[in-house]
Amino acid sequence: LFYQPLVSLADGKMVGAEALIRWRDAELGDISPAEFIPIAEESGLIVPLGDWALEQACRQLASWQRAVPMSLHLHVHVNVSGVQLLQNDFVERVRAIVDRAGVRPDQVALEVTESMLIDNLSIALPNLRHLRDSGLRISIDDFGTGYSSFARMVDLPIGEIKIDRSFIARMAQSSAGEEVVRAIVAMGRAMGKRIIAEGVESELQCRKLLELGCDGGQGYLFARPLTPWDVEHLLKQQRPRAVVS
Ligand code: C2E
Ligand code: MG
Ligand code: MG
Repeated sequence: LFYQPLVSLADGKMVGAEALIRWRDAELGDISPAEFIPIAEESGLIVPLGDWALEQACRQLASWQRAVPMSLHLHVHVNVSGVQLLQNDFVERVRAIVDRAGVRPDQVALEVTESMLIDNLSIALPNLRHLRDSGLRISIDDFGTGYSSFARMVDLPIGEIKIDRSFIARMAQSSAGEEVVRAIVAMGRAMGKRIIAEGVESELQCRKLLELGCDGGQGYLFARPLTPWDVEHLLKQQRPRAVVS
């Protein structure tokens, strides 16, 4: 697993890290998750693989917290496949894994893609509600690509929206692109959700997003997916937050 920092746009501080799975094969080289995750989903291997990723990420968070007191506020984000979410015992397994790792459930965010949610709403929804009620954070990944209606959005037990990087890329290209992001941020904020922008690559995008009221960002501008050691190094460099009186 690699970890990509999520930063607060207001002060540039790292507030979380998304676990991103990697497969390094001796013969084939690096294989992208976009290639092997769908195969793991078809074969059912995504269930043990997903459990492993969640467990690793939670243990990693606990390890950063032991090494760097500054990281006590940090969240770890873990991608969850639709296949996992539809398992009968998913909620119990997640709770057990988080518990075993010794991290607080509210420091773990599960990322679910918008399209997956829409396709499987009737089964996924009760599971997501139970997880939210257990204290976990639920985040909608790749938001804007799945055609969810506003009416449905209000009912979803999610605390956070991650705007798909295609919208962030289009923002600089046309004023229409910027207006779409403005509308997503306004809608999300009206529903009381935290808004994260994915794929932030330039200072200009970062400034615009802050202006539009986006809370957080993730992208090559801040950091690429890093090894756990690199993240620990980054955390050690961060200065304590200024105390606001
Ligand atoms: P995602 O969850 O939307 O993750 C963000 C992807 O965008 C990552 O690709 C990341 O490396 C890439 N990215 C981050 N910042 C930038 C940027 O500034 N510009 C550009 N062009 N790309 C950026 P990655 O690591 O190849 O992962 C692809 C997808 O594979 C993820 O999309 C996620 O849906 C899936 N995935 C990764 N790890 C897991 C996992 O453990 N479980 C499951 N179920 N899916 C995973
Ligand atoms: Mg994600
Ligand atoms: Mg995404």
